[in-house]
Amino acid sequence: MIVVLKQNSDQERVDRLLQHFKDMGLTIHYSKGENTTIFGLIGDTTRLDERDVLAYDIVERVQRVTEPFKSVNRKFHPQDTIISVAGRKIGAGYFNVMAGPCSVESEEQIVMVAEAVKKAGASFLRGGAFKPRTSPYSFQGLEAEGLKLLLEAKRQTGLPIVTEIMSEKHLDLFADVDIIQLGARNMQNFMLLKELGRSNKPILLKRGLSATMEEFLMAAEYIFAGGNTNVILCERGIRTFETMIRNNLDISAVPLIKMLSHLPVIVDPSHAAGRRDMVQPLSRAAIAAGADGLLIEVHNDPRCALCDGAQSLDIPCFDAVMADIERRATFEGREMMPQ
Ligand code: PEP
Ligand code: MN
Repeated sequence: MIVVLKQNSDQERVDRLLQHFKDMGLTIHYSKGENTTIFGLIGDTTRLDERDVLAYDIVERVQRVTEPFKSVNRKFHPQDTIISVAGRKIGAGYFNVMAGPCSVESEEQIVMVAEAVKKAGASFLRGGAFKPRTSPYSFQGLEAEGLKLLLEAKRQTGLPIVTEIMSEKHLDLFADVDIIQLGARNMQNFMLLKELGRSNKPILLKRGLSATMEEFLMAAEYIFAGGNTNVILCERGIRTFETMIRNNLDISAVPLIKMLSHLPVIVDPSHAAGRRDMVQPLSRAAIAAGADGLLIEVHNDPRCALCDGAQSLDIPCFDAVMADIERRATFEGREMMPQ
């Protein structure tokens, strides 16, 4: 971190700031020019917030040289991380498709969709039991009962399950869930991030609706800081001024995350556009950009879905999209994970 001081700063206050940095265990490169004094801080500056340094009146500017995230940073962990869940590998070219309805609605529905997505080649069943809805009057999910139905679908098909948690109070209910999803709206729910950090479950962390890359990776850093290193990142589109699509898939996030971090990246083309006619083209883009998998909403009868029907593929459509994904992912050198 580089700290530029204001001209003609009082030496006593400069010394006090220097001492503050030394007390933090940092080494200081002190450069005093004719007009400008600069400190180069060397050491672990992850605990130092630029804004706190700016609180000193004598500081003109602060520039971070290294990223504030450490454990998820590729600089300190050059190899791709591979997460192993239920016999599937995720990351480093191992490609997984997680598919299923936005919400679990009934046993017949979830079992039927589970069987269909398994047959088409998906390696995980996704389905929401606890749903974060904008309106309190919308369907909120079957909650604990929905989790039971997902586990029943898992028992009948053998597909491992991915489902969203909305409160740390529910963690016990997720004991047999294979991957816990932390949704976009909770990406900066720091209590939940800390609790998930203390658990040993793989976490699918979705990017917040308007989260910067740094905020996204800092959320992953929270989970690592608690001791849980099983984190999969999910790009699901960000808010922009466009109204024809629900969100805007930030495809550049995929190579950017790969450059900055060693964690696997999954793309969710369903929530990214909010339209089923864009799931296939966005899936192709995700594969080409280097994604390690896809999260796709599939419903047996999208017109009657209790949540996100407009973006859900029906089963014949998913079969066709899945065949295309398999071809393209294999062509791009990925290894499709078996069921
Ligand atoms: C979901 O996966 O159903 C969901 C609610 O996603 P997001 O958190 O990305 O909106
Ligand atoms: Mn949904």
